[in-house]
Amino acid sequence: GEVIVVHDLWKTYDMGSEQQVHALQGVTVRIKHNEYVAIMGPSGSGKSTLMNLIGCLDTPSRGQYWLNGHLVSELNDDELARIRNKEIGFVFQTFNLLARATALHNVELPLIYNGTPAAERLQRAEAALRAVNLDGRMHHKPNELSGGQRQRVAIARALINRPSIILADEPTGNLDSKTGDEIMALFDELHSRGNTIVLVTHEPDIAEYAHRVVHIRDGKIFSDQPSSRVRKPE
Ligand code: ADP
Ligand code: ADP
Repeated sequence: GEVIVVHDLWKTYDMGSEQQVHALQGVTVRIKHNEYVAIMGPSGSGKSTLMNLIGCLDTPSRGQYWLNGHLVSELNDDELARIRNKEIGFVFQTFNLLARATALHNVELPLIYNGTPAAERLQRAEAALRAVNLDGRMHHKPNELSGGQRQRVAIARALINRPSIILADEPTGNLDSKTGDEIMALFDELHSRGNTIVLVTHEPDIAEYAHRVVHIRDGKIFSDQPSSRVRKPE
């Protein structure tokens, strides 16, 4: 079934003094369970705006969005927070880790917010860190880790509530290409384990990891097709 259904979505930012930015202008996209989609486009084309709407971090000016069959505009704040925490794991370019906290503590934070008992938190955070091959770094703080290791901690944190959808906004943007490829190999693994992956990137090499590439220009979908990874040679 379809886990993300975006229909005719518009987003206008009001800049004051009657100035407006039309960041999204009628975007329609449907993403099925276990798809691996890259959203590509130049800077300012609306990628982050679309990602924030898909992640329920912002609301559209117009249009409909169904997340796992729920019409998002009809959810109250509590329902929205619950569905977002359950269904979506976020990965960002800048990792967004707490500097003073160990890898283990960063990963268990979402579980503190939802009241999971300490023993279970510890067990699940350790398992999540093992899943991203960071067994040996659980008690390190972010500044004691490499960029790639920091992104692994962020991915472990994104996975801790066992979401079905991973939303990643330029996840390799702060990494060298070798480390970036290692992180993308990890996304491949998550995809093969059944996660739906939506990735924003402006790097063609990174978009090639996805199976479907949606190009966005000036707030509109410009093309939507299989990546050359799955396209048959002509
Ligand atoms: P598949 O090809 O994998 O069977 P479909 O596109 O036929 O996927 O849809 C599968 C499920 O997704 C159906 O149960 C349908 O009810 C649900 N679905 C399809 N479109 C929407 C939509 N716009 N909003 C919510 N759920 C939808
Ligand atoms: P991308 O991620 O592709 O670089 P964005 O979605 O960040 O594009 O931006 C799309 C357009 O919307 C740009 O013109 C940008 O300047 C504008 N924009 C984005 N966020 C805001 C905001 N919070 N307020 C006003 N304008 C914004």
